[in-house]
Amino acid sequence: MIKRFAAYYKPHLLMFSLDMLASFLIALLAMAYPVITRQVLNVYIPNRNIEMIAKMAIVLFFLYAARMCLRFFVQYYGHIIGLKMQAQMRKDLFAKLERLPISYFDNHETGKIMSRMVSDLMDISELAHHGPENLFMSSIMIVCSFAYLFSINRVLTLIIFACVPILAFITGILNEKTNQAFKERRVSIAKINASIESSITGIRVTKAFANQDIEMAKFEVGNKAFVNASRKAYRIMGQFFSSTGFVTDVFNVLCLLVGGYFLYRGQIDFGDYSAFILSVNLFITPVNKLIEFMEQYQSGVTGFERFIEIIDEQEEVDKENAKTIKDLNGNIVFKNVSFTYDDKREILDDISFELEKGKTLALVGPSGGGKTTICHLLPRFYNISKGSITIDGINIDDIKLESLRQNIGIVQQDVFLFQGSFKDNIAYGKKDASFDEIVEASKKANIYDYIMSLPDGFDTNIGERGIRLSGGQKQRLSIARVFLKNPSILILDEATSALDNTTEILIQEALDTLRSGRTTIVVAHRLSTIRNADNILVIANGHIKESGKHDELLAKKDGLYHELYMMQFVKDGHYIDQKIMNQ
Ligand code: ADP
Ligand code: MG
Repeated sequence: MIKRFAAYYKPHLLMFSLDMLASFLIALLAMAYPVITRQVLNVYIPNRNIEMIAKMAIVLFFLYAARMCLRFFVQYYGHIIGLKMQAQMRKDLFAKLERLPISYFDNHETGKIMSRMVSDLMDISELAHHGPENLFMSSIMIVCSFAYLFSINRVLTLIIFACVPILAFITGILNEKTNQAFKERRVSIAKINASIESSITGIRVTKAFANQDIEMAKFEVGNKAFVNASRKAYRIMGQFFSSTGFVTDVFNVLCLLVGGYFLYRGQIDFGDYSAFILSVNLFITPVNKLIEFMEQYQSGVTGFERFIEIIDEQEEVDKENAKTIKDLNGNIVFKNVSFTYDDKREILDDISFELEKGKTLALVGPSGGGKTTICHLLPRFYNISKGSITIDGINIDDIKLESLRQNIGIVQQDVFLFQGSFKDNIAYGKKDASFDEIVEASKKANIYDYIMSLPDGFDTNIGERGIRLSGGQKQRLSIARVFLKNPSILILDEATSALDNTTEILIQEALDTLRSGRTTIVVAHRLSTIRNADNILVIANGHIKESGKHDELLAKKDGLYHELYMMQFVKDGHYIDQKIMNQ
């Protein structure tokens, strides 16, 4: 892990070395005061050499001025290095997220992922530069002060340094506990973020049910857990700081006592004694810095562990010899396909069908049967566990994901739109689309007139997730996106929610244009779509129960299709040509 952490220093090696050099000089300069003071007390004062005393003061002044510059350098550039490393890690993490399979997001909450991207990385970058600076500066100061003190008086030095093992002992005991406490704290921050994310996204539902109190209660659970986890972390930190603080204070007492005794016995002179007391503080400061480092280290390391956890997740990968295929024709064959989301429950079992180029296949059946799941397998959102799926005779595993998905257009039940304008959202279908192409696509999708009726036209902001649009408008926008993409294969998961008749007709028209000439799999809820399909599969419980054309299936009086039809399209002898085979 240290190796992987170190890799992030690589691009900043020069700056980092300068930062360390500056830290080293700062540490050395700290020694100047006791050294010069000792000289003054031992030599210049007894000799009444006022000129040298003044000179020494001037030297000290300039040394401190130099230290000011160095400190600025370390503060500023140290943070810049940390910041750049943090930005790089965040970039890596984001790129990783883009490469993770959908199943990862099925199992991880958005808020928790975001907490890793933001607050965890902040702690890592703090550790990244302060860590080595503190460690380096402190070690040097400890070594130098030891050497210096040792040269003044060996016995006294050894007595004082005997306290170091005590400090190490306390640190060792509390180290593991602190680590654990910080980890818990971090997990509970992530939980709070996840809960906020979920509550804000669902605010409309909350208000509709007037369930603010339930949301409040849910939030409070996470909030309390955070307080408890933090309390634990702070208690351990408190124990740590107070006990180490006590030990370092004892240094001073020891120094006074033993030093005073030595002075009394005449084994040390007054200047040495003063220098000693001053240097002991030089020694205590870095010890405290090291302790501070411990805290930074704990939060940085737990953050980095969580970072690595995501970085090591299994990505969506192409097979080694996978091919890029620019234009697929769209002859689709599913052969004995089985699938499970979680290895526990088989969702699809032995699904086989063929779909020729340009034809339309309708999937119908009760809710939860596996229709949407079948649609997700073609663009390889998930990998199948048994059987094979081929397009134009090529197994989809052997096609590069990017080019496979390039050839498939999807219009989903719940449309997702990005923050931005109409233009941005339609252009999402084709990166280099010209404005004319965008206009053309929006015309085909029957949304052009609506867009033009707005004062800002295509530049109108649609709000977060298209919050300012109606369901039908969102649908048509997503259809325009697919027109622009112009794929040979189309997957339509028909909206089940009731739309008004005008909207319904607009969408139906747009979809019919979109379908023509493309191989289409449609999860169908409207009778008109089902009737026009070249083949219908009735899916229930992950099996194909029946297949054939509308009239054939309807002719089987004891079949599932007939039953569904009677239940949902024919009511009280009335024929309802709208909705809905399921959901
Ligand atoms: P349909 O579209 O026919 O209504 P789905 O294909 O959406 O049905 O769902 C089929 C089954 O798979 C359901 O039992 C559903 O609970 C389950 N399922 C759907 N998505 C997931 C998922 N991401 N993780 C686990 N199970 C899922
Ligand atoms: Mg579905």
